[in-house]
Amino acid sequence: MRILLRSALAAVCVGLAAQADAAASATATAAPLASVREQLEASCFAGSSLRIGGGEILLSFDAAAYPVGKAQICAWTARAAFAVYTYFGRFPVSQVNIVIKPMEGDRVNGGTTWGNADDGKPLIVIRLGRQVSAAQLEDDWAMTHEMVHLSVPAVPENSHWLEEGIATYVEPIARVQAGELSAQRIWADMLHGMRKGLPADGDRGLDHTPSWGRTYWGGALFCLMADVRIRQRTGNRKGLQDALRGVLAGGGSIRVDSSVEAMLGLGDKAVGVPVLSELHREMGDAPMPASDDLQSLWQRLGVYPDGDSVRFDEAAPLAAVRRAITARGAGSS
Ligand SMILES: [Zn+2]
Repeated sequence: MRILLRSALAAVCVGLAAQADAAASATATAAPLASVREQLEASCFAGSSLRIGGGEILLSFDAAAYPVGKAQICAWTARAAFAVYTYFGRFPVSQVNIVIKPMEGDRVNGGTTWGNADDGKPLIVIRLGRQVSAAQLEDDWAMTHEMVHLSVPAVPENSHWLEEGIATYVEPIARVQAGELSAQRIWADMLHGMRKGLPADGDRGLDHTPSWGRTYWGGALFCLMADVRIRQRTGNRKGLQDALRGVLAGGGSIRVDSSVEAMLGLGDKAVGVPVLSELHREMGDAPMPASDDLQSLWQRLGVYPDGDSVRFDEAAPLAAVRRAITARGAGSS
């Protein structure tokens, strides 16, 4: 989630020192991808900040609070940073404070991201159960979700769905591209999840229906439909990933306020087709899409339920679009 109001919350740093470590700096072409992640983990373990793709992560946590061990928490943070870097081709902001707050229990209890905390920097607070296991950290999505928020400008409250939709949609795709998850797993999750984003009776469009389902999954559905439509219009050469990279390249990030129109316009410009603005006009004020439209989309993408998972139809008309969405190296801008 992202908090909309500028917060007076102070970031209290404990545990790791937030020192710059120039040696751990990495760019898209500087090192083999696996070694980028290892460098991140090593710098974190040594008590330094994590530097990746033009961004610096100042991580603070009390290692003594977690029996799972400091190395696992460093690796978890590094995986998320690496996935976000892989998707966007850079880290979305030049600096971010991440504070891990110990909670009772054994779960990752989600997080909150602020664009400008008291020190003027973005801040992510993650609530982490003291008894969390390495396996739970390996399967976690919340850290990546919060880091994706760093890439999205703060839009007016009635369009909060855009911020949560992008974080919900991009997080699993970034993790597939980074080699963490299989494409099959996330298409199964999307098949299950996207239906929660469909309009219910009385829906007045994404900009006027702030329910949980429409905010998170309705926003994600907007992103999926945009991704597919951009790829159809560009001969599968560009996708939402290119549009979102274009927003970042145009100065958009959580540090700035933006109208929805300006943000989507930046994305449209990056891909050369006005799909995002067009879809906003279709879905912002009207209860779209219909359930049948979503069903038809799965068929055209070649995604069919198969027990708890999915099977792919590679002869489906949009099978190549589906493959391109999760392909590593997608995003050519
Ligand atoms: Zn969120």
